[in-house]
Amino acid sequence: MMIGFIGLGIMGKPMAKNLLEAGYSLTVNDLNKGAVDELVAAGAKSLPTAKEVAAVSDVIITMLPNSPHVKEVVLGKGGVIEGAKPNSIVVDMSSISPIVSREVSAELAKKQVVMLDAPVSGGEPKAIDGSLAIMVGGPEEAFAKVEKILAVMGGSVTLVGEIGSGNITKLANQIMVASNIAGMSEALVLATKANVDPEKVFKAIRGGLAGSTVLDAKAPLVLAGNFKPGFRIDLHIKDLQNALDTAQSVGTPSPISEAAIEMMKSLSSEGKGSDDHGGLIQWYEKQAKVEVRS
Ligand code: NAD
Repeated sequence: MMIGFIGLGIMGKPMAKNLLEAGYSLTVNDLNKGAVDELVAAGAKSLPTAKEVAAVSDVIITMLPNSPHVKEVVLGKGGVIEGAKPNSIVVDMSSISPIVSREVSAELAKKQVVMLDAPVSGGEPKAIDGSLAIMVGGPEEAFAKVEKILAVMGGSVTLVGEIGSGNITKLANQIMVASNIAGMSEALVLATKANVDPEKVFKAIRGGLAGSTVLDAKAPLVLAGNFKPGFRIDLHIKDLQNALDTAQSVGTPSPISEAAIEMMKSLSSEGKGSDDHGGLIQWYEKQAKVEVRS
């Protein structure tokens, strides 16, 4: 099975390397020549356009920043759609709007090319060790054909439903993560301003109902004043914007996402868009004129 891999960034590069290590033949493409050279040194072939990558591949994986990049790479001039063979499968692993996943899939279907949307959760460490949570939308038959490939990159691979379901699941994940971080920030700033040691608050409540993976991952970083990414605030803004667009299209309320995106945008406009999303606490700290540190 020949695999094409387009998008060799923080996530795509280690994911592609894991596929090479598992013995798959890979043809790669990225705008960043350094990343392409690294994969070629590891045993991949490279081709200069997405069209050419698609022409030699049975499965074409994309791992790109957002919806416009996926539209350009798949449907644009010199894109996947121009080269893909009938019955080949496009697996878009980027976190994009589910509405766009469906649009791109419909265009590919006109050329008898099937698409799955398969965004991931877990960040760079899990991309490196091949233990990402992968949430997939699309036809069961196509899923069955690529499940083994996805299992090389993921600790869990779950078919959730039809095309777009993968990205809807990812948006649900991102809404819950953002609201957890915002709740933690509000609570720790309150405790600090009220003269209660935030580290002791964290220790006291982490085993109770308020305990969470987010609290355990982010509170120690906040207490150390460490906002190095991780997952950048600007990427979380992108995901929440996609969540708001989707909520509007299906007619659901989203006051928590609205509040979280406003705080993140305010931080981004102050030059903190590349901070880790745990750095959201800085918005509360600024309003309360207090710093949460151990
Ligand atoms: P990134 O910006 O590091 O990588 C994107 C890559 O795409 C870059 O190498 C870029 O050169 C390439 N690219 C962009 N346009 C291209 C084009 N037209 N042709 C070829 N290559 C092109 O992003 P990332 O952190 O790897 O994230 C990728 C996706 O995964 C995003 O949707 C992100 O939200 C999602 N994600 C990221 C993380 C994380 O922790 N970084 C975690 C889970 C999910």
